[in-house]
Amino acid sequence: MTFTTLGLSDSLLRSVAHTGYTTPTPIQAQAIPAVLSGGDVMAAAQTGTGKTAGFVLPMLQQLGANARAKPGRARALILTPTRELAAQVHQSILTYGKNERLTSAVVFGGVNITPQLRALRRGVDLLVATPGRLLDLYQQKAVRFDDLELLVLDEADRMLDMGFITDIRRILKLIPQRRQNLMFSATFSREIRQLAGTICKNPIEIDVSPRNLTVEAISQKLYWVEKERKARLLCDLVQDTHEQVLVFARTKHGADKLVKRLGKNSISASAIHSNKTQAQRTRVLDNFKKNKIQVLVATDIAARGIDIELLPVVVNYDLPHAPGDYIHRIGRTGRAGASGQAISFVTRDEKKQLRAIESLIKRNIECLNTKH
Ligand code: AMP
Repeated sequence: MTFTTLGLSDSLLRSVAHTGYTTPTPIQAQAIPAVLSGGDVMAAAQTGTGKTAGFVLPMLQQLGANARAKPGRARALILTPTRELAAQVHQSILTYGKNERLTSAVVFGGVNITPQLRALRRGVDLLVATPGRLLDLYQQKAVRFDDLELLVLDEADRMLDMGFITDIRRILKLIPQRRQNLMFSATFSREIRQLAGTICKNPIEIDVSPRNLTVEAISQKLYWVEKERKARLLCDLVQDTHEQVLVFARTKHGADKLVKRLGKNSISASAIHSNKTQAQRTRVLDNFKKNKIQVLVATDIAARGIDIELLPVVVNYDLPHAPGDYIHRIGRTGRAGASGQAISFVTRDEKKQLRAIESLIKRNIECLNTKH
């Protein structure tokens, strides 16, 4: 299958060709025609499936056919839970929209609001935003939604987890009733379905089955290890692989401590978590992408939506409390068809979490050492 059969315009196909992608991923193959049909879409797809291009490409086409944005107004709104994801979605808009005559902006908290006020003044066709900052900007009369045609909730499950539901409800009251809605979520829990019920009208449902992605494309292994020996084990693993490794730690403090420990063993490492400023996070991510550091240590929330291509190894230094987070975490490896490895360090105290994860992924994770 190629991109040419999906109904995209020549100019969009040119920008896709420029990225080097030739085959649409399953979510793209299903979401692109669905969005182009003008109906609402509810898609179960996690990061790593190519979902961003799955909504950005058809949105650019839908918006391109109509009038341009009026001053101070937005025609499409894409809400994301984190700044990093917002920045990445915007980057996709710039990449795929480079041949379109559409304007875009990205706004999120933690940075100076003035340039964002300025960016919105002339009006934008596509606005990517985190909910809190968007409401701030609305209150400051920087943007209105009277002409809004399209609403996207990206990683809706994470938005609920992070407590954005009140902000989302507020935003829904500010936008026109008549619009196209797209909802993307790693899973469709009861809560997500409830939210979808208040947002979407007869949505086309798409499921690219994240469980299959996890189970089939990613080799999952575990080590039973005592808490005090985790750091040593990680140093050994990292030194053995020579590959770049994304490590998940449970706490910010734990992440920082681990970076120090890795440094003492001459391993280049940095941490990304919510106590870091936006500038620090961007720099760390950039260094990691450029292969200037070997190990990135992240907490769940900070790691959400980080877009790193073809990450070979993910280590769960601590198991996540919510089993669903395990799937999000290991989704960072083996993305878009490449194979990946996920290694979990499990202490006796984490046995219960392990069982919950195994029952969610419906398989036992192979153990690399003897159980204690
Ligand atoms: P996403 O799930 O949107 O975060 O995308 C995951 C990764 O897959 C990104 O790094 C994209 O650049 C990449 N990607 C998107 N579409 C394709 C495609 N059709 N073929 C190969 N890789 C892709």
